[in-house]
Amino acid sequence: MERIIDSRPAFRMLDGKRPEEIFNTLPTPCYVIDEKQLHRNGEILASVIKNTGCKILLAQKAFSNYDLYPVLAQYISGTEASGLFEARLGAEEMSEKEVHVFCGAYRDDEFEELLKYVDHIVFNSPYQLKRFGSRAKQAGKSLGLRINPECSTQDGHEIYDPCAAGSRLGTTRQIWDEQMTEELVSLLDGLHFHTLCEQNADALEITLKSVEEKFGDVISKMKWLNMGGGHHITREDYDISRLEEIILYAQNKWRVEVYLEPGEAVALNAGYLASRVLDIIQNGEVKIAILDASAACHMPDVIEMPYTPPLYGEKEGKQKYIFRLAGPTCLAGDVIGDYSFEEELRVGDILLFGDMAIYSTCKNNTFNGMPLPNIWRRTDNGELERLTDFGYKDFKMRLGKI
Ligand SMILES: *Cc1c(COP(=O)(O)O)cnc(C)c1O
Repeated sequence: MERIIDSRPAFRMLDGKRPEEIFNTLPTPCYVIDEKQLHRNGEILASVIKNTGCKILLAQKAFSNYDLYPVLAQYISGTEASGLFEARLGAEEMSEKEVHVFCGAYRDDEFEELLKYVDHIVFNSPYQLKRFGSRAKQAGKSLGLRINPECSTQDGHEIYDPCAAGSRLGTTRQIWDEQMTEELVSLLDGLHFHTLCEQNADALEITLKSVEEKFGDVISKMKWLNMGGGHHITREDYDISRLEEIILYAQNKWRVEVYLEPGEAVALNAGYLASRVLDIIQNGEVKIAILDASAACHMPDVIEMPYTPPLYGEKEGKQKYIFRLAGPTCLAGDVIGDYSFEEELRVGDILLFGDMAIYSTCKNNTFNGMPLPNIWRRTDNGELERLTDFGYKDFKMRLGKI
């Protein structure tokens, strides 16, 4: 019988269940998406919609487990896509709601099909607007341009900062003044900015000031203003009333409809990655547990961002036993992090990582021939339902004829 490290949890199941009651029967590694937590997040987002009249879209690049879209559709206004495939997914799986798309550059050979799926289309540059705008307009779409307010509010995270020097994302005021002819402006229904990442409402307030300074004169000609994602609305310390004030301010000031398109906040803390210990090895002072889950393959943001995910049963402060948790691949840096335990880890122990719904199932890979972990849904009444059946075929078919 496997043992789950039992102590004060770094995160809890919403219904107070202990993980061994839930996960002992599951083959690992696997992701589990927690419907209850999606409901909780959905309720928070729905209350922002209700209090302000804004619209909130799911940014599918963060979370696109469409079996759960019917849960989210009860609360939010639609989906946002990064391109053709996500747009199609949103149109197919949340069909009764709005579908928006933003892409750094659209392709000629995809554009007609894209128009079938979306109702709002956001361009990155005046050139893209010029090239595709009238086709989109004739097809009855609502058109937007992404602007760059050149206001960095993140420190140290340049790869997540669309306002970093030299960024390709969004049109600066200088380029607007040089290239946006009256005819192009007349094609626009809205403006879009996305500059935040896991931030609170204070960063949005600073950003909106900058948007107002640089683009205030043109926003009032628009029907809508999309404030992008990166709002960590469902995080415990998020200042929701300040967000609501900012939305109301924009609506009153410019008479625009306000959109938010968070990814993270929609599925925050709504997923786990369950893994078993395969071996315990030691190098000098360092004890390492090799797991059947890989940071590089199954939780890529742990390495890319980087961050250390919460672990069920992890203790705050230094405990007696420190283990480095690492993956089974050949990559020396396939390390999840150093964690501290009251008891020794043993082969066969189940470890449960939190924060694994977002940027995980939609971003994993089969490097080293690692299998993709299956995805399970944990329903409101605690039942487990397997959503995928990954195997060798999913590794092989991406590499050649099958
Ligand atoms: C990434 C992204 C989002 C969602 O960001 P989160 O940090 O997941 O909330 C929304 N809109 C655009 C244009 C994005 O690139």
